Amino acid sequence: MLVFEKSRPGRGTSVLPPCEVETVTLPKKDRREKKLHLPELSEGELGRHYSELAKKSHGVNDGFYPLGSCTMKYNPRIDEETANLPGFTEIHPLQPEETAQGCLKVLKFSETYLCEITGMDRMTFQPAAGAHGEFTGLLLIKTYHESRNDTKRTKIIVPDSAHGTNPASAAMAGYSVVSVPSGPDGCVNLEKLREAAGEDVAGLMLTNPNTVGLFDKNILEITKIIHECGGLCYYDGANLNAVMGTVRPGDMGFDVIHLNLHKTFATPHGGGGPGSGPVGCKQFLAEFLPSKLVEGEEVLTFRKPASSIGEMKSFYGNFQVVVKALTYILTLGREGIPEASRNAVLNANYMMFKLKDLYDMAYDQVCMHEFVMSLASLKKETGVSAMDIAKGLLDHGIHPPTMYFPLIVDEALMVEPTETESRETLDDAIEVFRSLYELARLNPESLHEAPVTTPVSRLDEVTAARHPVLRYRFEESL
Ligand SMILES: *Cc1c(COP(=O)(O)O)cnc(C)c1O
Repeated sequence: MLVFEKSRPGRGTSVLPPCEVETVTLPKKDRREKKLHLPELSEGELGRHYSELAKKSHGVNDGFYPLGSCTMKYNPRIDEETANLPGFTEIHPLQPEETAQGCLKVLKFSETYLCEITGMDRMTFQPAAGAHGEFTGLLLIKTYHESRNDTKRTKIIVPDSAHGTNPASAAMAGYSVVSVPSGPDGCVNLEKLREAAGEDVAGLMLTNPNTVGLFDKNILEITKIIHECGGLCYYDGANLNAVMGTVRPGDMGFDVIHLNLHKTFATPHGGGGPGSGPVGCKQFLAEFLPSKLVEGEEVLTFRKPASSIGEMKSFYGNFQVVVKALTYILTLGREGIPEASRNAVLNANYMMFKLKDLYDMAYDQVCMHEFVMSLASLKKETGVSAMDIAKGLLDHGIHPPTMYFPLIVDEALMVEPTETESRETLDDAIEVFRSLYELARLNPESLHEAPVTTPVSRLDEVTAARHPVLRYRFEESL
């Protein structure tokens, strides 16, 4: 039942005293014509409503959540604690800089550490998400070429193993996208890359590890090919959880990178809350960054770079997310950061190894932080699809892996266990995967029915996609 359906006129939770100051009425043009539909519930009813909703959803606090490409790891509570300190919450973005030195220090330290981790020189925290960071990074590349009057570069090369946001961001930035295929080893086909590289190429976007969970072994050759044709190299660092503290994109020839703090650095991903997709770049691009770079030693100030691409978001981006990232970096330290990545890679390989006698792996080689299996042959033999197995997992309290992505693998399930899961959790999940495989062979029909234990049983996905109900129709219900 929706909160609006539980609403009864006159009930409420307001404990505010009557207003004592003069009230001013807005001019008619600014006034709402119809009454605003706000639910009216007592505090107790409201509490129950949200607890009930929470019980119906699945989060990392409920169970295993191996959603590939999403890094749904456990985020330590201490990171939330520091972000909640009054010095960080009770400030105003327009406050004079000298009264917010601590906050500027957070931005400065975060920039220093993240530049150290990525091998970049400067960083902006304005972008609010990964895709927003990609768009920002592409504008840096575009502005760089324009600043040199090099206007013939209209293309961005994006390998077919890239995250889906890469070609979308390139198109948003006004580029035409050239797709380069991967070879059977899951890496970029160098031959095809050489063919695509030329005077009209502004740059390349590489998701690494790519969406099949592999580190491109030709990465140095890839950046070389692009630089030789005059293009710049963009590193989609949303999968940094696999490599942080081990290799640095800046050392591998990349000029621009974005990170997803809401994946790798202690902000939950996918919760609908604020995210942060900081963009780092090499010094020669720094003067194009959005405004509010922190400068100075003793006294810190903000500066807008001389040839800035402009504002990508208000003020400094989602500041609290940066506080969490800094806390995370400081608590893990120089040893803990690479160790987290090593464990993420170890956990993925452990699961892959324990499943590969039953499930076909799309690329049967050592993986990074995630692996992709293909259920094409299982489907052919039993009629049980990747979707059916995913739904079956729900009945065992496991959130399904990413399904039908990447597009280059048929009947794909993409599993990212993350480093914060214990050996026991992984073993349990492996058992569940294995039992579902047996079930697919013995009683495939039952898997078409799954899930049967969840608050909502199998949804009609076609109707949901074709005729989505996206708003509540008050007029009809009231
Ligand atoms: C998640 C992800 C993105 C996009 O990040 P958003 O914050 O969802 O916009 C981009 N690239 C890769 C590789 C990702 O995993």
